[in-house]
Amino acid sequence: MTDPTTSILVAGAVLTLDAHDTRATALAVDDSTGRILAVGSSEDCRAAAPDATVTDLGTHVLLPGFVDAHSHPFLSGVVTQEPVHWIAPYVGFPTWKDVTDEFTRVDAATPDGHPVFFNGVDRMLQGAPILTADVLDRYFPTRPAVVLDNSGHLAYFNSAVIAGNGWDATPPPDPVGGSYSRDDTGHLTGLAFETPAVLGAANVVIAEVVPHPLHSAAKWYALMARNGVTLTSEHAYDTPFLQGYEALATRPGCPIRVGLYHMSIGDDPGAVVESSAPDMLWKQGVKLWADGSPWVGTAALSFPYLESEAVAAAQIPIGPSGESNMNYTRSELDGILDEFGGQGWQFAFHCNGDVGLDVVLDCYEAALERHGLLGTDHRWRVEHCGAGRGDQFDRAARIGVTISLAPFQFIYWGDLLDGQLFPPDIGSQWQRFAAAWQAGVQPSLHNDGAVSPPIPLLNIQTAVTRTTPSGAVHGANQALTMDQALRAHTINGARQLGRDHDLGTIEVGKLADLVELSADPMTVDPHELTSRVEVRGTWVAGRRVDLPAFLADVQAIDPAPHRRLATADTHRCC
Ligand SMILES: [Zn+2]
Repeated sequence: MTDPTTSILVAGAVLTLDAHDTRATALAVDDSTGRILAVGSSEDCRAAAPDATVTDLGTHVLLPGFVDAHSHPFLSGVVTQEPVHWIAPYVGFPTWKDVTDEFTRVDAATPDGHPVFFNGVDRMLQGAPILTADVLDRYFPTRPAVVLDNSGHLAYFNSAVIAGNGWDATPPPDPVGGSYSRDDTGHLTGLAFETPAVLGAANVVIAEVVPHPLHSAAKWYALMARNGVTLTSEHAYDTPFLQGYEALATRPGCPIRVGLYHMSIGDDPGAVVESSAPDMLWKQGVKLWADGSPWVGTAALSFPYLESEAVAAAQIPIGPSGESNMNYTRSELDGILDEFGGQGWQFAFHCNGDVGLDVVLDCYEAALERHGLLGTDHRWRVEHCGAGRGDQFDRAARIGVTISLAPFQFIYWGDLLDGQLFPPDIGSQWQRFAAAWQAGVQPSLHNDGAVSPPIPLLNIQTAVTRTTPSGAVHGANQALTMDQALRAHTINGARQLGRDHDLGTIEVGKLADLVELSADPMTVDPHELTSRVEVRGTWVAGRRVDLPAFLADVQAIDPAPHRRLATADTHRCC
């Protein structure tokens, strides 16, 4: 008798990350359901699935697929993947000179008259000037050129964009919620602030530069998968994105599962989302923004910045900003929480500052009380929490609120945070991983879409070593153990996304979403994790992910119905 519907994977080790910390060497999968039939030795698995196809992965190690608990996967693909040029400091452009060399190279390599689009210039990290039209015209004297700031709050554009929109003769009015900088005569100088104005400046160019946004998004899915991710979420979802997400989720080889958080400022944030692949795509909750970003001085903080060169160059007000940086009043927040909390949605709340976190926890606690949710398994979340303190995490744990931390803030800005932006007692403690773990908020880790490349192993290495790429250690007291960091990037993320019952660990009955690593992260020096351990592949529901096939499949989809997704009026900063 043959049973072609089961398979067994044999590995050097299987780190299940289950509650008993079980280490195994094999698992058996029911291919028809993608669910795990057995975990144990290869003999155990052969006994459970005697006719299975056996694949031996040699010394490689299997873990649950990594979870990037907070992302923006569709838009990240559109604004970072070819034919857009990604020029963030940590993807090969650490200095302003590197950026301008790339400008020159791209201008020479692009056919005359074609527009160009760049994303990721970071004035603080790259030492870049303010890219007014005058500055950009030096590199792009004739073709339209748009450059997105790494913060996402700002776009720079050149004179050809101004002329192409007819804005040289008739400058546009400022849109609601955004603005354009102008000279003394009222003419635009090439800066657009906040989403509505950024879109006004960027839409025409990006629509021309990105002809197949679905394929761009698929490339970001592939980038995540190459880094071991199998599950993530969209934290700025709005209804126009559904067709794009649905198109990707329903491809048979889709490598990434996505939970959607509907922006509270979007169209019908309480709308139910029906996907024809609900295991791959589902609506998880509603998203709010408490404050802004510490790199542009818009986080709600109780303490001032240092009067340093870095702060002056970034034109950040010294502060402290306090509640003046909150995007909503408390009563506005109460209204949103009542409306959608009453409908049963989970919330996720963007918040970087400690003052912001106090307000969020005040509002959460009161709303949980009003809706009878205190003591229930509601899993309301807070995102990023750069300046969040241990006592705040303790309070979050008491009311059942969970935290998703942002190691990228520490990785790329950690050296500036500690001593340049803030004094060491504050800066070294940015992203308090250990305090969150000890509080019991079951923290996850994330990369936040295009803000940073999705590299869970780098996050894990950093959370365990508290060491930035320069080699400096900041706040060693906030280090996680390797086991904690692995759980933060797997089961804790799955729990926040409501999928811990079927994902996040390797256990009988769960879906076989796996990452294959070249070596065991528990046995290497954590400082060498990213240099000694490589991702060798992922599985989704027991099926080995084939990225070239997935990308070819998506590329073959007619782009016409999806073209407007490059410009959908839903872009919102992280
Ligand atoms: Zn975000």
